[in-house]
Amino acid sequence: SDPILKVENLKVHFPVDVGTFFSNKAQLKAVDGVSFELNEGETLAIVGESGCGKSTLGRAVLQLLHNTEGQVIWMGENITGYSVKAMRPLRNEMQIIFQDPLASLNPRMTIGEIIAEPLATHNPDMPKEQVKSRVREMMDIVGLLPRMINRYPHEFSGGQCQRIGIARAMILQPKVIVCDEPVSALDVSIQAQIINLLGELQKRFGLSLLFISHDLSIIRHISHRVMVLYLGNVMEIAEKDELYNSPRHPYTQALISAVPVPDPDKEAHKKRIVLKGDLPSPINPPSGCVFRTRCLYADQQCEREKPDLNTLTEASVKSTHQVACHKQAEIHRTN
Ligand code: SF4
Ligand code: MG
Repeated sequence: SDPILKVENLKVHFPVDVGTFFSNKAQLKAVDGVSFELNEGETLAIVGESGCGKSTLGRAVLQLLHNTEGQVIWMGENITGYSVKAMRPLRNEMQIIFQDPLASLNPRMTIGEIIAEPLATHNPDMPKEQVKSRVREMMDIVGLLPRMINRYPHEFSGGQCQRIGIARAMILQPKVIVCDEPVSALDVSIQAQIINLLGELQKRFGLSLLFISHDLSIIRHISHRVMVLYLGNVMEIAEKDELYNSPRHPYTQALISAVPVPDPDKEAHKKRIVLKGDLPSPINPPSGCVFRTRCLYADQQCEREKPDLNTLTEASVKSTHQVACHKQAEIHRTN
């Protein structure tokens, strides 16, 4: 069936001032030509270091940013550049949850009011009692006691605040939720609970999730496919098991090598790939392959030519596996 969301060559470039004397204008290429599809009931993880453009990408997909180029196709409808007003009828379909749950909740509103707000905005004529009963139902679904409806956000723990954020995002019965590092600010013991909750909600309501994270060990449990971003460019997209077991891009290989494995024996024998150098600035990214300044395999071709995101054609590989590297076949043969 058709993907619920299709993103084609999406770019988000912000104008920035560089230098003081000449006050030159430059472009910060936060997202630089990203394409992917999201299917119904699927979790696509977007992974990369901080500053790779993943949050910007999530917001651009939801049309929360200007200065975007390329296309965002929502259930067959091209919504690129839609205004706030044009997006309003679609807002119930696409929601977002944020990294810092407490900061994203209005401290002067009760959690009942916070969870009800999208519903009250979207259906202003809905009777108050009906709104309240929907709120109680949502609280129950996300694991909050409905009798806490009149409490304020500061009375809740971080994990509970994220449950409130999830209830608010779920109350309009969306088809897609962009989850922007939803567990990164939480204790490790709480992270798994929130990940499990999102997984349950996905199964129960057929939700699609765009799950943004810098942490490959977190997304392992929730994602179906994984997209690896570096300096606003897609390095690799693959089904989860294939990405973890047989990463093909040198950047993905380095990220995977740093993920701890539970078996201490294997952990001791694992070869950790350490990247050279620092993350370059997205204002002045390297020519050719943006990863080349940190890549062990870079040569002159990598300096000259930007690699396309190509689908792997080997029979043993799933047809959805895409890699942007001139040398991935050679690297794979010699590994
Ligand atoms: Fe490394 Fe070249 Fe591949 Fe880029 S294209 S990842 S620089 S080998
Ligand atoms: Mg971010």
